Amino acid sequence: MTEHPAAEEIIRLKKESGAFIFAHNYTLPEVQEIADFTGDSLELSIKAAEVKAAKIVFCGVSFMAETAKILSPASKVLHPVPSAGCAMADMVTAEKVAQYRKSHPGTVIVAYVNTTAAVKAEVDICCTSANAEKIVRSIPAEKSILFLPDCNLGRNVMNALGRKMELWPGYCPVHHHVTPEMIREARALHPGGIVLVHPECPEGVVREADHALSTGAMLRYLLASKEKEFIVGTEKGILHRMKKENPEKIFHPLLPELVCPDMKKITLEDVLRSLKEDLYEVVLPEETMFRARKAIENMLAIK
Ligand code: SF4
Repeated sequence: MTEHPAAEEIIRLKKESGAFIFAHNYTLPEVQEIADFTGDSLELSIKAAEVKAAKIVFCGVSFMAETAKILSPASKVLHPVPSAGCAMADMVTAEKVAQYRKSHPGTVIVAYVNTTAAVKAEVDICCTSANAEKIVRSIPAEKSILFLPDCNLGRNVMNALGRKMELWPGYCPVHHHVTPEMIREARALHPGGIVLVHPECPEGVVREADHALSTGAMLRYLLASKEKEFIVGTEKGILHRMKKENPEKIFHPLLPELVCPDMKKITLEDVLRSLKEDLYEVVLPEETMFRARKAIENMLAIK
C-alpha cells in the first residue's frame, strides 16, 4: 500500500461512500495502488457495469470515463481531471464521421474504443486492440470498411487478415514514434529479452517485435510465460503492474520517454477532491449514450 498522505483518507472515504475507484494500467503507480480495479479501458468499463456501484471514480482519460458511463448509466461516474484527454481520440470528430457516412453509404465504420462517445454514436461497431482482428473478420467480405481513428492498429489488422480497409489518419503520439531501430538497439542492450509492443505501434515495429499485444493480453502473457526478461514497448505506466505481478521477472522499458502525459494528470490529491466534492460528473446526452452503447454491444456480441 502506498505511503502517500492522501491515500489513507481516500481509502476511508471510498469505504464510507461506497464508491469504487477504477484506474487504467497507464496511470500513476500510487493511483493504481488505491484503485479497486486496474485494467485496460474496456476491462474497466465492463467491470463498472458488473459492480453496479452507486459511484465510480474513473482514473484514466476522458473517453474511458465516458465508456464507463455508457455501460453503467445508473452509476454516477466521476472523472477527477476532465482535461485528461486522448490526443488520438481527438483526431476524429462525430461531424467528420457523419460526413464520411453520407458520402460512403454502405461502408461499415469500425471505431477503436479510443474514441469519444459522440464518435461511437456515429459508427457501426467498436473494437479494442485485443479483438480488432476478430471484429473485422466478422464483417462480410463484400463490404467496404472504414477503420478509425488509429491508422497503425488498422494497418496491423489489414496485414494480419490480408483484408483491405480505408484507414483514418489518426495515431497515438506515444506509440506512433516507436521505430524498428529502437527495438534493435534495445535487443543489443538486453540480449534475450522478449520484446512486447502494443498494436498501436507502426507495422514495421510490430514485425520487429516478438509479440504485439493489448495491455490486458501482455499482463496475461507474462503470468503464463516461463521467460525471465522482457523489453516493453508501450506506455511505461504498465511496468508498475508487470513488476508487481511478476516480481521474479526483469522488465526494461523500450524507451524511458514512452509516457502519455494525459494518463499522468490524475494525482491522489485529485482523486481525494473528486471523492469529497463529487468532481467531475460525466454527463452525456441520452441519445448519444444509446447509440454509442449499440456500437459497443455490437462488438460484445461477436464471439
Ligand atoms: S497512450 Fe495514446 S491512445 Fe492512450 S490515452 Fe495516451 S494518447 Fe491516447
